Amino acid sequence: MQQLPVMEHFYTIQGEGAHQGRAAYFIRLGGCDVGCVWCDVKDSWDAQKHPLVEINKLVVAASASPARMVVITGGEPLMHPLDTLTESLHKAGFTTHLETSGAHPLSGSWDWITYSPKKFKSGLPEVAQAAHELKIVIYHLSDFVFAEQHAQQVGKDCQLYLQPEWSNRERMMPAIVDYVKKHPQWRISLQTHKYLDIP
Ligand code: SF4
Repeated sequence: MQQLPVMEHFYTIQGEGAHQGRAAYFIRLGGCDVGCVWCDVKDSWDAQKHPLVEINKLVVAASASPARMVVITGGEPLMHPLDTLTESLHKAGFTTHLETSGAHPLSGSWDWITYSPKKFKSGLPEVAQAAHELKIVIYHLSDFVFAEQHAQQVGKDCQLYLQPEWSNRERMMPAIVDYVKKHPQWRISLQTHKYLDIP
């Protein structure tokens, strides 16, 4: 049975984006080579630091929760082949959600893809085209231009979100509110789990 480096896995509430407020089982995989300066999970970067866990153990753990939605996040989950994981989760009755920067080729079978490209390593067009939501983290005013560039690359039904970078949220929120009022195709995504202190 395939193993994956797992930083943590836990039952919680999805705090961000289109599925904000829904109970979900989160699996955070180790390994990321994107290098965002403001990353809030830098401990995830080195995959070697995290134990290898068999996929069936992850499915059993998720199945102990009452929710049937699993979010695979990281790190950058697409650094690992995810076909067996998503196949096993689907067989167990879960919907599969992916949070990715899109910097590595797409693997796995997904019911929902959150594509969050970063300036530090380009996202791949195949991930942009498969995305259900585009989430751009706003750290600087220049990120609005970055957001519009990536909105051109996603499909027409892809939902568009702007999310303030957490440490900069008070400084950037007025600009985000103003931007969304002027460009209503965008929505605001907030990291509600951080505001509410939901682990
Ligand atoms: Fe951190 Fe995500 Fe950026 Fe990787 S892609 S450095 S995990 S914010």
